[in-house]
Amino acid sequence: MTMTQPTVTIPCCSAPAPSAVAPTVAGLVKMSTVDWPGKLAAVVFLQGCPWRCTYCHNDAILDPRAPGIMSWTAVTDFLARRRGLLDGVIFSGGEPTLSTALPAAIDQVRGLGFQVGLHTGGPWPRRLERLLADGKVDWVGLDIKHLPEKYGDVTGVASSGRAAWRSLEAVLASGVDHEVRTTVDPTVHSSADIIDLGTRLRVMGVQRHVLQEARPDGAAANHESAFDGWSLSDTIPTRELPWADRRAA
Ligand code: SF4
Repeated sequence: MTMTQPTVTIPCCSAPAPSAVAPTVAGLVKMSTVDWPGKLAAVVFLQGCPWRCTYCHNDAILDPRAPGIMSWTAVTDFLARRRGLLDGVIFSGGEPTLSTALPAAIDQVRGLGFQVGLHTGGPWPRRLERLLADGKVDWVGLDIKHLPEKYGDVTGVASSGRAAWRSLEAVLASGVDHEVRTTVDPTVHSSADIIDLGTRLRVMGVQRHVLQEARPDGAAANHESAFDGWSLSDTIPTRELPWADRRAA
């Protein structure tokens, strides 16, 4: 789901085991200007994801039992040294709401004086609702990957559409600042699908919808060949959905 690759920027000699009290950290980007519009933010990638998207380019981050590559303490130590230099911290993944340690980790980050952003696919709407109701999140970047009835074509999980669209309703009902992102993949999206999707989002009141070009690199080898010579405008010409922003791979 991510925009920035989880680049490891703090080396750690001993990888920590998964923990219920601290999130398992799969990567850290020290500073990003593109992951939270208008904000200078660090991005913390948490390990594990319940879905297996066709275009996922980060296989290593999917297994929730895999150990992290640095400790949560190393992340908070780093953030403590960046107070006043960054606007916020984004929790990304994988799927950050998979971690039961996320709410406490957010509290720590807020305690250091940072705003908090969340990149999520919304697989657990009630967890997201709780985070929003508790005022833990200042901005949400929510992936809406397909029409609800076709969601499983992307994620491989039939029930994923119901969950993600319920999460969208939760984001809109909360009034939190947000962006909805759709990664367009020509193997699972037709032009009609994307036009229908973008129109539904607009009618629902989504503030900002971004169409992202799926990246061929890192996707499964048999999937990568489907991208030969393809670009986002082949599936969704620029005259369609003029209100949506576009992001090239
Ligand atoms: S939501 Fe999909 S693209 Fe994002 S990490 Fe999980 S499998 Fe990969």
